[in-house]
Amino acid sequence: MSLPRTLGDLRRSSFSEERLRTRRVKDELRENLTARIRKQGDAVFPGIVGYDDTVVPQIVNAILSRHNFILLGLRGQAKSRILRALTGLLDQHMPYLAGCEIHDNPYAPICRRCREEVARMGDASPIAYLSPEERYIEKLATPDVTIADLIGDIDPIKAARGGHELSSELTVHYGLLPRANRGIFAINELPDLAGKIQVGLFNIMQEGDVQIKGYPIRLPLDVARVVSANPEDYTARGKIITPLKDRIGSEIRTHYPATVEEGIAITAQEAWTKRNGHPLHLPNYVQEVIERIAFAAREDKKIDKRSGVSQRLPISAIENVISNAERRAIRNDENSVVPRISDVYAALPAITGKLELEYEGEMKGADHVGRELIRLAIAKTYDEYFTGANMQQVVQWFDLGGEIQLADSIPADEALENLRGIQGLTDKLTPLGVGPKDSAEKQVSAAEFILEGLHAHRRIGRSEERVFKAGEKKPEPVREKSFDQDERPFRQRRQFN
Ligand SMILES: [Zn+2]
Repeated sequence: MSLPRTLGDLRRSSFSEERLRTRRVKDELRENLTARIRKQGDAVFPGIVGYDDTVVPQIVNAILSRHNFILLGLRGQAKSRILRALTGLLDQHMPYLAGCEIHDNPYAPICRRCREEVARMGDASPIAYLSPEERYIEKLATPDVTIADLIGDIDPIKAARGGHELSSELTVHYGLLPRANRGIFAINELPDLAGKIQVGLFNIMQEGDVQIKGYPIRLPLDVARVVSANPEDYTARGKIITPLKDRIGSEIRTHYPATVEEGIAITAQEAWTKRNGHPLHLPNYVQEVIERIAFAAREDKKIDKRSGVSQRLPISAIENVISNAERRAIRNDENSVVPRISDVYAALPAITGKLELEYEGEMKGADHVGRELIRLAIAKTYDEYFTGANMQQVVQWFDLGGEIQLADSIPADEALENLRGIQGLTDKLTPLGVGPKDSAEKQVSAAEFILEGLHAHRRIGRSEERVFKAGEKKPEPVREKSFDQDERPFRQRRQFN
């Protein structure tokens, strides 16, 4: 399709004056969203998982209402992703007067340069186009953002070159917001913006004019404004100037995935798992353990509730888990990459950095907190598969003095050989979907998961060197002190995860 290149051709095309002259960005979003709902029903934001019944309908309503809106939520709740997805609701091509820094509407230019050009050239005025991505401008608010960054500044060089007065709008060097004209302007973490800047933002949005270094400049911009913020910062008194808050039509709360399954779906979508090299088999129970680490962390009082636990935790963790398994497969020249629970412990560097610790957590250290969370996640996942399963035979093998070392680097063949020595263990893999015909890599991963599960429930022990052995014996309940009887020796073991 060839697009009209002059104002005259544009008038005679589907981009007619009648259709575009008064059509604002929010009308465009509304129109395209309406068409999408007709076609796709409620699935209007592909790739946004877990928000179908909560966040998505509210966003749809906000857009249909032509509102500016805010997404309130903690770290890693896909706020930026949702905002970026709005570009999917913009027209494929948007015509503007070529050369205009603020992408003026050809039928109703607001800048002086364009008004003068159209007056001079008429229907010969050249037209250019923007794609949806080019119409999305995003800014992370920080306390040092200035009016010049956001709105613009007087450019004395421009004034000198053009022979203009300093107060002429032709001397303005435009900031981000005017450059977002006829597009979407997203501000992340709005409360971090200084009060003075918020006032400037409000003025230009509401009144269409702004003062730059004391010079009043009139700019009736057409911008769909969307923002995100941490709920606590946003509701804190004095963080957002009231008139600005008042102009935000809809306040929409985001949330973390409600179920482990949703979490897994998001992590699977975002994480880099399809790599070149060895074929990967990622067991469900490993995915579940990783996801439950985030769930456990969100409930843990040692972790700061206000900053939350980002979905990036399981995403980074799963990437690291696969890498550790990859490393083993490469070193041992194995056929496939099958992550094990020991790989989850090896992924601690991808986990600890994403936890904002409270005082109690700080005292224990991020590493310790991370290991506790992994252990908790293993225990819960184990219960999903093995509640009511009889593992007495396996536990007994250890109680009778059996020990087995399972370093994360051990080749699968060797590990399987050793694991087969534990009576009854390899018969228990069925609930994990693994049988004796499966590859050594799969069987080892599954058997190790059972041992880790028993260890997480403190039924067997494990040393720092990853030697599984008998668990600590709980001291006999003291009924009566019988001094003549020999006390059973109680071996104190250092319990490490
Ligand atoms: Zn212009």
